[in-house]
Amino acid sequence: MRWDKDYVREAATSNRIVAGINIFGHEDAGAVIRAAERLEVPVILMVNRDARKVLDIECWGALLTSMAERACVPVAVHLDHCSDPENVRRAMDSGYTSVMFDGSQMPFEENMHITGQLAEEAHRRGIFIEGELGNVPYSDLGQMDVRLTSPEEARIMQEQTELDWLAVSVGNIHRLVGRKVPIQFEALREIQKQCSLPLVIHGSSGIYAEDMQKLKNEHIGKMNLGTSIRKVFGDTMRSEMIANPQEFDRQKLMSQSIQNVEDAAYQILKGLL
Ligand SMILES: [Zn+2]
Repeated sequence: MRWDKDYVREAATSNRIVAGINIFGHEDAGAVIRAAERLEVPVILMVNRDARKVLDIECWGALLTSMAERACVPVAVHLDHCSDPENVRRAMDSGYTSVMFDGSQMPFEENMHITGQLAEEAHRRGIFIEGELGNVPYSDLGQMDVRLTSPEEARIMQEQTELDWLAVSVGNIHRLVGRKVPIQFEALREIQKQCSLPLVIHGSSGIYAEDMQKLKNEHIGKMNLGTSIRKVFGDTMRSEMIANPQEFDRQKLMSQSIQNVEDAAYQILKGLL
C-alpha cells in the first residue's frame, strides 16, 4: 500500500511509534513487511549509507517501492542519513516517500537553510522530510561525543522550515551492541516545550526496554532500528553455515535468517504499539 499520509505524526499523538528499519536486501525487506502485515501496522523501510555503498539510490527505490506497493499495510521507503542535497533529490526522483537530510554536522544556519529548501521541494511532491539537530554518535566509529539537541534550535527550525519530523539527540547512541545508555527524558521534554514536531529517536539497540516503553508516551513518532535486526540476520546465518557445511545454496542458507528477522521485527513492532 502507498504511504498516503503522515503516519509518523499520527503515531506521535496517539502513544504509538512507527518503526523505521534499515534494509539490506529483499530478504529482510520482505520479512519486515510480513511482520507489519501480521500486526496491521505501517512500517518504514530505510536505505542507509551502508546499503547505498552496494546499490545506488535509484535501484533501492525501484526494488523497495515495488515491494511496498504490493504490501497490505502502508509501507514507506525512506532515505536514511543523507548529508548531500543532490542525493536527497535523487531519492525524491526515485519513488521514496520520505527522506532524511542530515545536516547535524553543519553549522546550525547552514543546516536550517538546506533543510528548509529541501522541505519545500519534498512537499511539492508529497514527500515527507526528516531533519536532525544535535549529534547522535556512532559507537562503531569510536565516537561517544553526545551533543544534545538544543531546544532553542528546534524551535527556530520548526518556525523557519516546513520540516516534518526531527531526529534528536537525548542520550541515544547509534549501533550499541551489548551495552545500553539511558534516555535523558528531561532533555527530551525541554525540546518538546519549544517544538511540537514529531520527534525521531535513532540508536534503538542501545535503549533500555523500560525507556522504550516510556518513549511511547513522549510524542515520539518514529524509532530507527538497524543493529538489532542486522544482528539477528547475521548471527542466524553464521549458525546455519556452521550447521550445514556442505550447503551452497544461498536461498537455503538464508531461509532461517529471513524467518528470524520476521519474528524479531514482529516483536519490535508489537512493542511499539
Ligand atoms: Zn541514525
